Amino acid sequence: MGSVSARDIVIEAAEGGYAVGAFNITDVVQMQAVVEAAVEKRAPVIIQTSVKPSKFLRPDVLVAVYRTLAETAPVPVCLHLDHCTDLDHCKKCADAGYTNIMIDASRHSYEENIRQTKAIVDYCHALGDITVEGELGTVGGVEDQIKVAEDEAALADPVQAIEFVERTGIDIFAPAIGTAHGVYKTKNPKIDFDRFAQIQQLVNGGGMLAPLIVHGGTGLKPEVVQRLVALGGAKFNVSTDLKHASIDATYDYISSHRTEYNPGKIDMAAKQAVIARVNYWIDLLGCAGKASCTGDHRS
Ligand SMILES: [Zn+2]
Repeated sequence: MGSVSARDIVIEAAEGGYAVGAFNITDVVQMQAVVEAAVEKRAPVIIQTSVKPSKFLRPDVLVAVYRTLAETAPVPVCLHLDHCTDLDHCKKCADAGYTNIMIDASRHSYEENIRQTKAIVDYCHALGDITVEGELGTVGGVEDQIKVAEDEAALADPVQAIEFVERTGIDIFAPAIGTAHGVYKTKNPKIDFDRFAQIQQLVNGGGMLAPLIVHGGTGLKPEVVQRLVALGGAKFNVSTDLKHASIDATYDYISSHRTEYNPGKIDMAAKQAVIARVNYWIDLLGCAGKASCTGDHRS
């Protein structure tokens, strides 16, 4: 199976009633942890990097490590660029070998969002099997480069949603429905389930046009996650949860081994913590064991 674009595995998830976990990583140890957890669970998986780590570590370096891990993994693995607002960087990552690109032009006007998103769709589809995620409305919280107060976040308009998907040609679609990045400041974030269901019906009710993506997985109650999956959420983004796991495990290890100078052991502690959280999400999203369901048209 190995390296795949996001579209096929996310469509299979949408049709199968589960979601693929999309996990943000900032280093190679975390990337290995995500892949190892997915292999252990026999789950399709999406590795994501936001823009800053992709620039810091370099797209070509990340792609080289990704391909090495994906080629030997008996599960489909995708490398996705998350929330990129910079068209040139989207293209650079596509050129380097990322298999899915998220162009986030949601801060712009509706027409400009369509124009920029379509430009990246055209570029990626011309390159080959590189698929594209677009966003309509704004996901609240702290995004990598975009800060939006939760209460100011504009939700996706259902009628605009279908037009956005059709005019841009995106493969997978992230409508803002009230989920937020980072840690939720309230115990009961206002998620607009009805809007999500309506968008799912309009976009995918008459045939699968662009499976829906849920951003801001961290901190959502399990029943909220499962409800969104049941309504059609087929790719679920998890970032903050893994960052907390990695940093807390690193801190704990160093605190209890203050006179030891062994970076490898710190890495191992962080890796185990990330694996545990990825396992949790894979089970919650229902994608454990689903790698075996994937078609054999992929190499
Ligand atoms: Zn996001």
